Amino acid sequence: MNKDIATPTRTKEILQKHNFSFKKSLGQNFLIDTNILRRIVDEAGVTEDTGAIEIGPGIGALTEQLAKRANKVVAFEIDQRLLPILADTLAPYDNVTVVHKDVLEADIETVIKDEFPNAKSLKVVANLPYYVTTPIVMKLLSENIPIDSITVMLQKEVADRMAAKPGTKDYGSLSIAVQYYTEAKTVLIVPKTVFVPQPNVDSAVIRLTRREKPAVETSNEQFFFEVVKASFAQRRKTIFNNLSNHFKNVEKAIIEKVLLESEIDPKRRGETLSIQEFATLSNNIYAITR
Ligand code: SAM
Repeated sequence: MNKDIATPTRTKEILQKHNFSFKKSLGQNFLIDTNILRRIVDEAGVTEDTGAIEIGPGIGALTEQLAKRANKVVAFEIDQRLLPILADTLAPYDNVTVVHKDVLEADIETVIKDEFPNAKSLKVVANLPYYVTTPIVMKLLSENIPIDSITVMLQKEVADRMAAKPGTKDYGSLSIAVQYYTEAKTVLIVPKTVFVPQPNVDSAVIRLTRREKPAVETSNEQFFFEVVKASFAQRRKTIFNNLSNHFKNVEKAIIEKVLLESEIDPKRRGETLSIQEFATLSNNIYAITR
């Protein structure tokens, strides 16, 4: 029986055997700690009923741990040079499919229909390429893909923003976008030393559990996100100033009136508003501007 892929010696052997050189531009920082990998799989709640979707398998460190626990694993990898390596390292596992695609371009729903026709529960589990963390997470959340949860390693700073509560410095439009669709919890802080090569930033694992329905009711989802974004355009400005700047054709007196009707002091800053307050506010502005 082979040693786990993610031990430092086995990883080194694999990289040397295939003469692999890391591409920084693809966010290639591979995990070399099997304990961390098992904890990620634990935190994701992967069981024999789980269909697991991985983004960026690298040389298969996490894929292997998923293959041991999940019913099936489908992994999207952009770097063609990794395909023969994965065919080699994952040869012992017959429940893994590697899809050679940029996940941002992929039609994930069709892949799910083809690869997981009877899955009871689908979960995304990944050590994400850091240069595209947010676009990947937002794609998974906004495209209505039938997944229960997303458990991913990312920059700690991004995890902090995703899980931030109102009134904190990290709270902003990303917190609201993520928490609109999911319950967000940071489950692990990970030191740089468990990667080769070591990244420049600290890392964390976040678990996003999809809500059955969005956290708040909105008259128009797109408009809700427009109001949220406008409210954070200049963080140091009041909600009244940010909204007046954004909705230039609406009289300032009307903006003030809508804020007061929504029970929001116009002098507050966007970062103090809860998601519910943003929903009430955007629904009230929507009603007068449409
Ligand atoms: N899962 C492996 C591990 O934990 O050791 C590798 C993780 S590494 C941080 C990110 C992986 O994502 C790399 O294998 C990289 O080639 C791949 N990748 C980068 N951009 C991608 C994209 N747009 N779509 C799919 N895979 C991508």
